[in-house]
Amino acid sequence: MLLKKKIKLHSLRTRYISLALFLGFTMLAGAGIGYRTMLIDTHASHEQLDRVTQQAEHLEHIKELMHTTYRSLTLFLLDPQQTEQRTMVHLGFVKSISHIEEMTAVDSAIRSPINDQLALLKEKIERIMVEAERLFDIRIDPLRQYPPMKIARRITEPARLAMTSALDAAIAEAKLTISESGAANYIAFVELQHNLDKMRLALRLFMLNRNSGFNSPGAAQQADNAVDIYDLILSQITQIKERDRQGLVDFDGSNAIDVIKTKLPKWMAGFSAIQTIGRTGNWQLDTQIMRQNILPISTEIAKILHTISETIQHKNKQIEASHDQIKTMQNQLLAALIVIIVIYIIIMLLSLERMIFQPIAAVAQALKAKTFGETQELLLHTRTKETQDLIGAFYEMNLQVHNRQMALEHQALHDALTSLPNRNLLRDRVDYQLAVSKREKQSLSLCIIDLNRFKEVNDTLGHHIGDQLLIGVGQRLKACLRGVDTIARLGGDEFAILLPHTTRQQSETVAKKLLDQLKEPFVIDENQLYVGISIGIATYAIDGDDRDTLMRHADVAMYNAKANHLGYANYNIDDDPHSIDRLALVQDLRHAISHDELALYFQPKIDLEQNKPTGAEALLRWQHPKLGFIAPDQIVELAEDVGLIDELTAWVISRAIAQCSACHADGFPIDISINLSVKNLLDNQLPEKISTLLKKHQFDSSFVTLEVTESSMMSNLESSIKVLNELSEIGVAISVDDFGTGFSSLAYLKQLPVNELKIDKSFVMEMAHNESDAVIVHSTIDLGHNLGLKVVAEGIENQQTYDIIKRYGCDLAQGYLFTRPLPIDEFKAWLIADRA
Ligand code: C2E
Ligand code: CA
Ligand code: CA
Repeated sequence: MLLKKKIKLHSLRTRYISLALFLGFTMLAGAGIGYRTMLIDTHASHEQLDRVTQQAEHLEHIKELMHTTYRSLTLFLLDPQQTEQRTMVHLGFVKSISHIEEMTAVDSAIRSPINDQLALLKEKIERIMVEAERLFDIRIDPLRQYPPMKIARRITEPARLAMTSALDAAIAEAKLTISESGAANYIAFVELQHNLDKMRLALRLFMLNRNSGFNSPGAAQQADNAVDIYDLILSQITQIKERDRQGLVDFDGSNAIDVIKTKLPKWMAGFSAIQTIGRTGNWQLDTQIMRQNILPISTEIAKILHTISETIQHKNKQIEASHDQIKTMQNQLLAALIVIIVIYIIIMLLSLERMIFQPIAAVAQALKAKTFGETQELLLHTRTKETQDLIGAFYEMNLQVHNRQMALEHQALHDALTSLPNRNLLRDRVDYQLAVSKREKQSLSLCIIDLNRFKEVNDTLGHHIGDQLLIGVGQRLKACLRGVDTIARLGGDEFAILLPHTTRQQSETVAKKLLDQLKEPFVIDENQLYVGISIGIATYAIDGDDRDTLMRHADVAMYNAKANHLGYANYNIDDDPHSIDRLALVQDLRHAISHDELALYFQPKIDLEQNKPTGAEALLRWQHPKLGFIAPDQIVELAEDVGLIDELTAWVISRAIAQCSACHADGFPIDISINLSVKNLLDNQLPEKISTLLKKHQFDSSFVTLEVTESSMMSNLESSIKVLNELSEIGVAISVDDFGTGFSSLAYLKQLPVNELKIDKSFVMEMAHNESDAVIVHSTIDLGHNLGLKVVAEGIENQQTYDIIKRYGCDLAQGYLFTRPLPIDEFKAWLIADRA
């Protein structure tokens, strides 16, 4: 049904793998792209940083170079002798330019604002370099350095020299002219010369003052005086010219006046020029160049450098910003990765939840529901193959578990062999029916049924036949019952029957019916098996009002039925051995054996031919001080159970021989038959013990017969043959007790050292009325005789039976007809009475 459903199944594995692959790929791709972008960005920013760093380094070099270059320049200006400073300046500029070129090369690939600045810088440095060269050249040439000096040398000095020499000639001429005019001329020319000297002095003072930088107001005064002197000289010359026209002046005098007239204006012009320079401050050309050319350019250079520096810093900041950006990107990428992973996990969880957990939970729930006995249909909304398989497997397993559970339940509540309910189921039903009975105030009966001598079937014919027999018995018993009744097998050969709504009388009817059912033999593997049963009945509420009590009391009743061969028996409190403390009973038995508190009763065996007692069977009796009479087979069973059987048997044999030999002494040379238990045949030392006892009492072994039941011989054939042979060797006779109830084959009988057959009383007691019993008894007698054995019939209760077995040729008879088992004294009295 499950597989037919038209659900398109997908393998969970396939789904899971595809999902995982898809998500994994997405994650990897995302991470890869992010990483690549980041890598490129990082690379670019590294390159940029590299360039900026290079440029910054170059810039620093340039700044440094400019600084040293200016220093060298100043040094050289101070002391032109230091020519190396000049070289330094030159080199400084050249190096700076080469740095600039390198800086330009760094950004050559791109259009950079720095490069424009650099071009400007280079131009300025080149210009400053030219200016510096000019300055140096001027500095080493004082004439070029000081322009007034040049004027002095070229204009004023030659003019003065010309005037002075012309005057000197005129003075000398006047000196030679001894005349009045001559003397006047002489004075005039000396005075003129004196005034010229004054003018020369004024110029010199001015220049000295200017050169030294004193700038004393006296010097300016001097210069102003020179103009006055100049005017004085001009007027003097005019006077002398007048006299010359008068012819009062000689040649040289006249020449001097002409010279002065031409030269003095020139001199004066030179002086004025020098004065003008002195006032304009261009007195020294190097300072001028310095001030007017170099300083402005250097200022510009400083500005450009500053701008470049700022640009670089700006760039640096930009790079830092992009670094930060990359870092942010990295963080974002990481965050994105984390988010993707979280999503991945969530998706996986959700799909696991849908594809695995939910279906598994559903299966688990269904399983749980199943455990509590509810049926829950599994919802097949899952579409994964594995879950579907799981559900399929669950159904399959469920079915198998159910089947197995049913089987187990059946097993737990039923008997494997007969398939009847077992003790557990019986208990349940008893409890239930008891509850019903109590409520409805109805009675109820519980029967415990035990097969008689079932053990012998098992021991002699094998378990296979035993099992078949149990099945057959179960079926026959069940056939008698109503549908409401329950028949259960409690174990072994024990059955129980629950009869609801049944009174004691009604249950007795049922018991009779059951007994009737088993009258017919079972035919199993060509064996005809007669099976007797003992039924114990306990009825609610007379015999108990709870399950355990009813079971126990039915059991007691069953034992009672069995012990007394009643077929069935109701519970009777007087029969209840379970009121006895079993442990105490064991103690009591042990004590009874060792303190001779047990007794042997003797029941005579009558020789049918001689018609007189020739022997006796010793039967165990125990009058318990508190419990009263306890049946011998119960004592034997108890002794067997608790390991007292050897002691008990030893006591019985000892007592039997002792009392029998006493009878012999009293003149009754009778045989003594002693019963052995099945366990005695396992005791290897039994023959030795018996022979010891015989010797002790000086009792002839030929008087002793040991009675062994057919089934006990067969239960352990090997050991039995050995022990029985040894006993036979001692000289005691062996009798097969309860013959006919067991299932031994005659072939075995031949192997055993048997002397006597004792037909079971169940056949004998009924034989007067029961044809088939009579046939069995008759044929057993013949059989025994054919095997050369004596045959004893026990359970002769009436004359009629006595007559029949006598007619059949039976050898010995035993039964209540003659007497019940008697204590030794009464037995002796009986013997005496019988003899009489
Ligand atoms: P058993 O060996 O078959 O003994 C014969 C039983 O039949 C005795 O019962 C006896 O009292 C009883 N009986 C005798 N004549 C008649 C009769 O005419 N009618 C009826 N209905 N019963 C008769 P008892 O004494 O109760 O012994 C029962 C069984 O206990 C014995 O059956 C025997 O198997 C066992 N038993 C008794 N004494 C000993 C013993 O000392 N040692 C061993 N191992 N078993 C013993
Ligand atoms: Ca016996
Ligand atoms: Ca018997």
